[in-house]
Amino acid sequence: MPLISGDVSDDNADITPAYTGRLGVEAMPALRLPDESIAPRAAYQFIHDELMLDGSSRLNLATFVTTWMDPEAGQLMTEALDKNMIDKDEYPATAAIEQRCVAMVADLFHAPGLSTTDPASATGVSTIGSSEAVMLAGLALKWRWRAKRGDAGGKPNLVLGSNVQVVWEKFCRYFEVEPRYLPMEHGRYVITPEQVLDAVDEDTIGVVGILGTTFTGELEPIKEICEALDALAAKGGPDIPVHVDAASGGFAVPFLRPELEWDFRLPRVASINVSGHKYGLTYPGIGFVVWREASCLPEDLVFRVSYLGGDMPTFTLNFSRPGNQVVGQYYNFIRLGHAGYTSIMTSLRDTASWVADRLAEYDGIEVITDGTAIPVVSFMLKGDPGFSVYDLSHELRTGGWQVPAYPMPADAEDVSVLRIVVREGFSRDLAGQLMLAFDDAYRRLQAGVRPESSASGFAH
Ligand SMILES: *Cc1c(COP(=O)(O)O)cnc(C)c1O
Repeated sequence: MPLISGDVSDDNADITPAYTGRLGVEAMPALRLPDESIAPRAAYQFIHDELMLDGSSRLNLATFVTTWMDPEAGQLMTEALDKNMIDKDEYPATAAIEQRCVAMVADLFHAPGLSTTDPASATGVSTIGSSEAVMLAGLALKWRWRAKRGDAGGKPNLVLGSNVQVVWEKFCRYFEVEPRYLPMEHGRYVITPEQVLDAVDEDTIGVVGILGTTFTGELEPIKEICEALDALAAKGGPDIPVHVDAASGGFAVPFLRPELEWDFRLPRVASINVSGHKYGLTYPGIGFVVWREASCLPEDLVFRVSYLGGDMPTFTLNFSRPGNQVVGQYYNFIRLGHAGYTSIMTSLRDTASWVADRLAEYDGIEVITDGTAIPVVSFMLKGDPGFSVYDLSHELRTGGWQVPAYPMPADAEDVSVLRIVVREGFSRDLAGQLMLAFDDAYRRLQAGVRPESSASGFAH
C-alpha cells in the first residue's frame, strides 16, 4: 500500500512520509475548492485527523441517537449506501424492506385491521427521522381539519406542551398553524388533560402527546388526555384527533411496559411518529410515521410518482434519500425480535436506574426522572451548593463526558437540569466510570474550584 502523500503529481508519492507531504505543512482547504487534486489516502487522512477533535460519540450522553450497532449491521448499511430509497422500481428489495419495517412498526403500535399477509396494509412511511415524520403527521392533521371545517374554519391551531421538541415549533411556523403551548410549572414537566380541555376549540387540528419528553424523558398522560377528549366529543364538543410524538419512547415503552396504553389501542390516537435512530437502535437517518388507518391520511397529500418507471405512491418531504438506514433498521428488527428489544431495553433501564440511585445519594441532588419510563435520567441541584448544573456539565466535559445542562421550558425556565441518556453501548462499567468522574467533579466544585461557567446549548 502506498504511503500517504499530499501531492498526487509527485512521482515519489510512494516514498514520501505522510506528514512531510502536504499533510504536514498545509492547512485544510476550507473556503474554496482547491486547485489541485490529492491522493485519496491523503484526503482521507486530512479529514480523519480533523474529526479526532469531535467528542467521542460513545461518551456523548446528550444524544438520544444510536452510537453503537452490531458490526454486521454496519457492514450491511455500508453495502446499501449507494441505493437511492426513492428508486423503488429499480430497488424493489429495498422498497419491500421499507414496507415490512412500516408494517412492523404499525403492528408494534397496535394499528387496527392489519393484514396478516400484506405489509402494504399498514398506512405509514419511513422518513429521515422524527422531524420529517412530524411534518407529515402535522400536515395530515391540517388537511383533515380543513376537509372537516371547510369555509367555516378560522385559523388552525395545534395544542401541545411548551416541552415539545423544536420540530413542532418549526411545523407550526412553516405550515402556518397557531401553536397553543401549554405551560409547565415547578415539579410538573408534562401537560395535563385539564390544560388540554381548556385550550382546544373547533379549529384545533390535533393535540400532541409526547411519549418520552426531550427534557426529562417523562411520558405524558396520553390515555387520560384521550379520555378527556372523548368526553368532550361525547358532549357534542369538537372531535379532536391525538398525535403521539414517540420519537424517543416508541421503541422503549412497548418493551418496558407493554401493558401501558398510549398507542392505537386508544381510538383517538390518529398517528404516531418514532425515531428508528433513537431506541430503534439504528445509526442516524431513520424514523417512521404511521397512521391508524388509511382514512387518517388524506389522499391529496399522496403523490403518485411515475418517474423512473414505476407508479409509486409517495408521501415524504425528501425525494432522494439513502436506502441504507432502512436496511439497518430491518436488520435490528429481524436480528433482535421482541425478545432482543425487551432484553436490551430492560438492561438500559437497569443501568439508568443504577445511575439515578447513585445520584440520589448526594444531598445536593434531586433526581427528576430515574430512568424507569425510558432509560433517561434527569436531575437538578437543590439548595444552594455554590455551583450550578452548568458548572457540573463543564467539569464533566474536562474528563471527556458530555452531559448537557439546560433550562426547563416555559413556565419553569428558572429550573435548570442535567440529563443522561442511557443507550445501547453504555455498559455498567462505563456507567461506573461516569459516576467516578461525576463524584470527582462534584467534590472539586464543592471545594470551590469553579470553572468559567459556560451555559451549554440545549442538546436534543
Ligand atoms: C428527538 C425528538 C424529535 C426529533 O426527532 P429526530 O429523529 O431527531 O428528527 C422530536 N420529538 C421528540 C420528543 C424527540 O425526542
